[in-house]
Amino acid sequence: MLEIRGLTAGYGRLAALKSVDLEVRKGEIIFVVGPNGAGKSTLLKSISGLMAPTGGTLVLNGESIAGQAPEKLCRKGLALVPEGRSIFRTLTVRENLLLGGMVRKGKAEAAADLERVLETFPILRNRYRGVAGHLSGGEQQQLAIARAILQRPSLMMIDEPSLGLAPLVIDQVYESLRQLNASGLSLLVVEQSTARILDLASRIYVLRNGHVALEGSASELADGHALEEAYFGYG
Ligand code: ATP
Repeated sequence: MLEIRGLTAGYGRLAALKSVDLEVRKGEIIFVVGPNGAGKSTLLKSISGLMAPTGGTLVLNGESIAGQAPEKLCRKGLALVPEGRSIFRTLTVRENLLLGGMVRKGKAEAAADLERVLETFPILRNRYRGVAGHLSGGEQQQLAIARAILQRPSLMMIDEPSLGLAPLVIDQVYESLRQLNASGLSLLVVEQSTARILDLASRIYVLRNGHVALEGSASELADGHALEEAYFGYG
């Protein structure tokens, strides 16, 4: 559904992405991992229209999308949960979710979507009338993901969902990603750490210094050696 070929992007004279090839097929959960500064956020910004690529092709469901505005790409089924979650901290959980659902048409349809989201994230039902800024880090992450689901994306991109979360909470967030993927949603997830991704990933890309150092299925990379070598750049 998403095909990226020879993607380049940067900041002024700094090339942050140097000819990246990457593909997400329907129903896959793809992880892009890499150390600090590898270009992971730049990749998501370039796909979602927050940043204009300087070269290469981006094709979503057969259509070229390079250079299109984020709102337009959102209507075409792309949702981004940015690093830091970007929820409205002074609004309630309910209000945050209603804002996510604004792109939906019918009222009944929106209510049914909301009910499904609350079933996937029961903690948000418990905190429904509470202020989002009072949620824990893990709850805020779940709220950000829940809000993105209400846009009914066909591909959801998430920047570092485990950032700053305790291990048990990461388990919960990853479990919700697993459920969403099992329900048919395609996911492109960026993480700094390779821990835990092997159980969940369809395929994994290691990004280092702006290029893809390794790509493989979870089973091909299961023993972790190749993953570690590519990540740290040995050999
Ligand atoms: P992190 O895990 O720290 O978020 P990352 O893999 O997401 O890292 P990017 O944020 O994409 O990496 O950064 C890639 C390169 O681009 C780095 O060298 C970084 O310093 C640089 N960079 C990122 N954002 C900017 C910016 N707004 N202006 C200038 N350079 C930037």
